[in-house]
Amino acid sequence: MRFQKFLLIILAVQMLNSCNNHDTNQGTILHGKTMGTIWTVHIMDIKNHHKDELRRLIQEQLDRDDNDFSTWKTNSALSHFNRYQGSDPQPISIGMADIVTEALRIGMKTGGYMNIMVGPLVNLWGFGPMQEPLHTPNENEIASAKALTNLEHLRLIQDINGQWLQKDLPSIYVDLSTMGEGYATDHLARLMEEQGITNYLVSVGGAVLCRGKSSYDKPWKVAIQKPTDRENAVEARVELKGHGISTAGSYRNYYELDGKRISHIIDPSTGRPINHNLVSATVIATTALEADGWDTALLVIGTERAKMLALKEHLAVYLITKEGKNFTHWISPQFKSFLVG
Ligand code: ADP
Ligand code: MG
Repeated sequence: MRFQKFLLIILAVQMLNSCNNHDTNQGTILHGKTMGTIWTVHIMDIKNHHKDELRRLIQEQLDRDDNDFSTWKTNSALSHFNRYQGSDPQPISIGMADIVTEALRIGMKTGGYMNIMVGPLVNLWGFGPMQEPLHTPNENEIASAKALTNLEHLRLIQDINGQWLQKDLPSIYVDLSTMGEGYATDHLARLMEEQGITNYLVSVGGAVLCRGKSSYDKPWKVAIQKPTDRENAVEARVELKGHGISTAGSYRNYYELDGKRISHIIDPSTGRPINHNLVSATVIATTALEADGWDTALLVIGTERAKMLALKEHLAVYLITKEGKNFTHWISPQFKSFLVG
């Protein structure tokens, strides 16, 4: 991941300033690093002696997830699969199968714009573990990378004995980066439930999920950021009501190449970084995984198609579009019930 970027603001948690655990009069905040970004767990009802143990459990679980499906770690299970040159089904974890299932489902509904096989293009444009290109990739380079992104080359097999991933082209490269934070967020929520914690807000990078109450018996609130370089400028506030939320934005993670702004979100139909004026897509869904998949998908397809898809799929969506020097927003009917003042 190029920069740590926070497109969502957890209200009342903005005072975070170091990686130590600390208590506030509004509960306990734990935080640390994972997947090239920061995790935060905000809990209301935890006993003091349990805190260090919980922090250890959280970090271990996130490290295991990272070692499973990171493409940045050469030793992760996913990196092994990507390097594997054969076509035999390879065993994968239940977590990875869950991400792939959801990614393929959203991929189908978007006609392939959300595409976890986009890895060769992501790497070509310098957003994977490889270095940024020194020049704009040419047509041939784009065409060869694009030829590896057809979802038909990947198969997920699941039965009572386990789950496997199979490829029929050796050089395909699966990239689960876009849904990893959402998955890890849901996974943290499950850990909280297992620990008997009922009032919590968990977040990994740009994905957040909360349950129960925050301080003073109030519901948790999360804010969508304005799409500017200024941190913590609030665009809108929501109450999640137990749902997951995720924002994808093209305004934080980019670099300049040959005078152009290169975004980390790739349009698989052109093989090039997106180049339209939808700058931020926020989705609220039952799970953070689902929200994290849809936000990227909507960002890829641009404002008008994103609106149509949100209406067709009854998604809770908040879009921010750049119009000249100004920004306009669009809110789907499902999103409106989450908005608060
Ligand atoms: P954001 O940084 O806006 O939160 P994510 O981190 O969720 O977005 O996802 C960005 C990553 O997703 C990229 O760095 C790349 O690895 C991957 N990616 C880029 N384009 C696509 C796409 N069309 N479909 C699936 N994954 C993509
Ligand atoms: Mg996403």
